[in-house]
Order: sequence, then C-alpha cells, then structure tokens
Amino acid sequence: MIKIDKDFAARPTGIDYLAKNARVVVFIRQAIRDGVQHEAKGNYYRGQIKACLFAKYHYKCAYCEIKLYACESALHVDHYRPRKQYLPGKKQNFDPLTHHNGYPWLTYEWSNLLPVCATCNGGKTSGFPIRGTRVTAAPFDDTFTDVKKLDEFRANQPSYLAEDPLLINPELDEPGTHFSFDIKGEIKAGSDRAKATISTYKLDRPGLIESRRKIINQFHARLKKMAALLYIQQQKGHFKERQHFCDGLQLAFKPIFEEIDQLGQIHQEYSAFKNFIKQHFKETNFHHIPGHQLIKRARDLHRKQWCP
Ligand SMILES: [Zn+2]
Repeated sequence: MIKIDKDFAARPTGIDYLAKNARVVVFIRQAIRDGVQHEAKGNYYRGQIKACLFAKYHYKCAYCEIKLYACESALHVDHYRPRKQYLPGKKQNFDPLTHHNGYPWLTYEWSNLLPVCATCNGGKTSGFPIRGTRVTAAPFDDTFTDVKKLDEFRANQPSYLAEDPLLINPELDEPGTHFSFDIKGEIKAGSDRAKATISTYKLDRPGLIESRRKIINQFHARLKKMAALLYIQQQKGHFKERQHFCDGLQLAFKPIFEEIDQLGQIHQEYSAFKNFIKQHFKETNFHHIPGHQLIKRARDLHRKQWCP
C-alpha cells in the first residue's frame, strides 16, 4: 500500500454536491433519511467514480496494489466507512469498537471511496474496527439547505479522526511507516493498525506473497547468472587489463542496476514492495555464490563508490 494524494474537495462531477442542481444532494438526503435501508444509486455514480479512482490510484487496488488495468469489472468501489451495519453474531455481545450501525450518509462521499480488487473487498465485508469514539449518525438531518455543510462528511474532519480507525487509510495515513517486507515477499506489520489491516484485507495471502517473491527472485537470478558468467571469464583470464575488467563489469550489470534504481515508482504494481527491494538491496544476499564479490564491485562502480 502506498500513500495517495487525493484532494477531497476535487470531487468527480456526479458526486459534486456544490455543482448547480446536483442530483447527488437528493440522494444524500435520501441516504440520511433511509439509514441502512438506503439503496445506493450505483448506476448513477459508479461509472464516473471508477474512472476517477482508476486514474488517482494508477489502475491499482488501494490495498494490495495489484494492477486492475482498464477493466471496470475488476475494480470494486469500497466504502472505507461501510454503508452497512456490522452486528454481533448470536453468541457475541455488542462491542461499540467493533460492531456498528453503518455509515449510510457517507455513501456518496468522495473521501470515503477507495478502489479495491475483489479479494481485498471480500475480506473486509462491512467491518470497521476503531479504537476511539464511534460516529453513529450524520451531524444533521435531511432537511439541511446549505450544501456546504456536506464538507463535514470528509474523512479528515475531527469527529472521524477521533474514531481512531484501525484500518489504515492510504489517503490519510502514511503506509510506509506501518508496513515493511522481507526478501521472501512476506509483509510485516509495524503497528497494531498494520496488523488489523493485513488481517482484514488478507495482505499476507499466498498469491500475493508468491507474486512479490517472484519479483525479487527474478532480480536475484539475473544477478547470479551475470556474476557466474563474468566469474568464469575472469578465471579463464579473458580480462587482460584491469580497465577491461572494470568496463566489462560495469557494462554487464548496468541494465540490472538501472532497473533496480527505477523500482518503487508510484504507477508500478506492488510499488511499496519494489521500493523495499530498492532500499534494501544488499550484496551480502549473494555471499554463497561463486563470484559474489563481482556483484559488490559492480554495485560500487554503479554508485560511483569505487573507481578502478
Ligand atoms: Zn487488493
């Protein structure tokens, strides 16, 4: 997951309540009136919102960062604060920090909508655990006339921040301070909030770990192969002069290191994990292979930390 810069005031036209004669205001009034019985006007707003969310999130799921490409059916619009209730099972007591009566008035709120893949969406259902004080109703009823009051629905308003949600919000929180990875592609929680988010969206599911592991394995395989080739050539005495050796080393590894330097860009699939690879590239990961010193030398050359 990565931080996404979304301007909560720059709403897509269809849900812009400040637009002249905005139909969405009628729907918001209905949502406040209907409560959890409200039937979201999905046909009205989803198409346009999906296009905006696609662009904002670089065609990726907000949580697991898989690419959804330009396929609308792969993108689900998640309500960060769920529209529907999450109530206790038969044997449980009502716990206000876990169970809730839904946030139907936020159905059309831009700051409440995130693009997610089907798997992440399925993991969440309507759960929304918090550690603070639950907001249980809209701050006003459906008779409001000043539409500017709807700004109070934004996710960064004090009452919503005071809920202290456990689920990390990529538009408000800095995910990089909560999550890390290891070279096996596994995700690590750095906070209770990260733990809850990983468990809710199943960010440790085997398919994701495998996909992340594949990325790092491909880089390792290419580096090992190149090191082995140069090592054999070096052993056979192909490099007569030191400068030839250094030029060969630099040239051979350059494309791989340049690719590593480019990892972690915001539009890339799994960019948080790729950023981890870039930040934590260690020559020591290769100490067990023949020619491992060549990878270190080549890396130093690439960083201009070593001159022959
Ligand atoms: Zn996902």
